[in-house]
Amino acid sequence: MANRDNLIEVGVAQIDITPDYPIRLNGYGSRRTESEGIIQRIYAKALAIGSDDDGPVVMITVENCGLPDELTEEVSERVKNKTGIPRENFVACYTHTHSAPCLTNSASFIFSADISPEEQEKIDRYTRHLTNWMEAITLEALTKREPCRLAWNIGELSFAKNRRTEGGPVDHSLPVMQITDAEGTLRAVWVSYACHCTTLAGADNHICGDWAGFAQEDIQKAHPNVTALITIGCGADANPESRMRPMPEGKQEVFETRLAYAKEHGKALAEEVKHQLERDTKSISDVPKGVFERVNLPFDKLPTRDEWEARAAQGGAIGYHAKKHLEMLENGQAIKTDISYPIQAWTFGDALAVVFLASEVVVDFSLRLKKEFDNTRLWVGAYANAFPGYIPSERVLAEGGYEGGGAMIYFGQPTRFAPGVEQLVIDTVHQVLPAEFLVKSNN
Ligand SMILES: [Zn+2]
Repeated sequence: MANRDNLIEVGVAQIDITPDYPIRLNGYGSRRTESEGIIQRIYAKALAIGSDDDGPVVMITVENCGLPDELTEEVSERVKNKTGIPRENFVACYTHTHSAPCLTNSASFIFSADISPEEQEKIDRYTRHLTNWMEAITLEALTKREPCRLAWNIGELSFAKNRRTEGGPVDHSLPVMQITDAEGTLRAVWVSYACHCTTLAGADNHICGDWAGFAQEDIQKAHPNVTALITIGCGADANPESRMRPMPEGKQEVFETRLAYAKEHGKALAEEVKHQLERDTKSISDVPKGVFERVNLPFDKLPTRDEWEARAAQGGAIGYHAKKHLEMLENGQAIKTDISYPIQAWTFGDALAVVFLASEVVVDFSLRLKKEFDNTRLWVGAYANAFPGYIPSERVLAEGGYEGGGAMIYFGQPTRFAPGVEQLVIDTVHQVLPAEFLVKSNN
């Protein structure tokens, strides 16, 4: 519990995670070679909240396309062994930038081709380094804790556009948490926005944080000695609106235009954060309490061997995916029938509940949760803890398309989810969030 001055111990730490060697980048299957350089350095950052007596929580955010479940579990286990912090009080998020290194077992079918042993060795090495770095910044953030004040509010930002349907649903909310020290100096800002980090659109093969990286840079430039942490909401079906703008002729011209747009979106986010920091905020006086659950999300009916063989004959991405599954059958390996999906929540007393959904979650989930729970006290995050693929709502699953099931092959999942996936996720959110956050019925 906080003392009567509402002071809560908070520590932040960050580390540069930019590889100093060429490496395959995750996010676009069309990239066939290792990275060609660095546009912007990328970071992992940690935020530790609460004293040892409180039972602290730690959130990490990593500039990467997607953290595999096993990697997050490994870091959490190491942190637990060294500090006693339990799994429910540790969360790892990622910005989903499509211009950061591949990690071992992260959307490993993205290229629809085997990666060479030399390239794979670098990916494995980077993954080992990242695991160590994530552990190190967690311990550093815990060491750096000092009395702070926490406050939050919700801004609005409009560059996310539904990428499936013109004028389709989006979540333009921009929850902002600010952490100031006992003297009132801003120390850290945590912001979340529901949009793909794909402004660059694979127009190049360089390392970059995309709009989230530029937003963090701009916030930190405007507030020296502040650490800006960005996490991503339910933006699986949202792209930056600049993706829909016309492009000039020429590869270099397209790259320069997209880079300018990434900076523009980052600046817009940083400006809205500035605006929010100047507004009245809602203060937080409790250290969060974490809850962590897993729910099994079943796949639809698996293809038969004949169907796998027919697909393998097609070649291309579908053929590669089928060939890999036939190899598994040949080797006597079982094909997965479901995934274990992690769902986590942190509740700051009765002031705020933050939900961390895993992977690429479509906007329908956050819009539904904001109807079922008090949306003035709810912060819905996604792209946390694991990266098994897109998590479609029932609407998107029925509509099909990329987020409805088409993208599953790039994640190495055997097929789309079975109907009912939305309710399984929503029911589990109801298990991890206290009933006091439910919308009160008016009758
Ligand atoms: Zn994505």
